Amino acid sequence: MKVYNERREIICARVECWAQRLNVHPRLIRVQRMTRKWGSCSTSGIVTLAADLVNQGSNFQDFVIAHELLHLRVPNHGKLFKALMTMHVPDWKRQDVRKGTS
Ligand SMILES: [Zn+2]
Repeated sequence: MKVYNERREIICARVECWAQRLNVHPRLIRVQRMTRKWGSCSTSGIVTLAADLVNQGSNFQDFVIAHELLHLRVPNHGKLFKALMTMHVPDWKRQDVRKGTS
């Protein structure tokens, strides 16, 4: 499906933009079906994003992308992580990376 792929490319472009902004270097970006989360990040530098993220609003996309990319710098959700999130995505506290919660 052409439209879908174009939107998938938009997600990847957003990830590149955020990676530069946060000064992180993900080894691989994967966009695939995820049922329980919108994104994940492995310690080896692989960032996985849910394919249906393309159907979400741009603010939410930015939140998920920034959250996962920040894990390349801070592996937990501690004080530093929260401070960086507030710096880059001021309204992040209203969002949730888990699916099924709003
Ligand atoms: Zn996280």
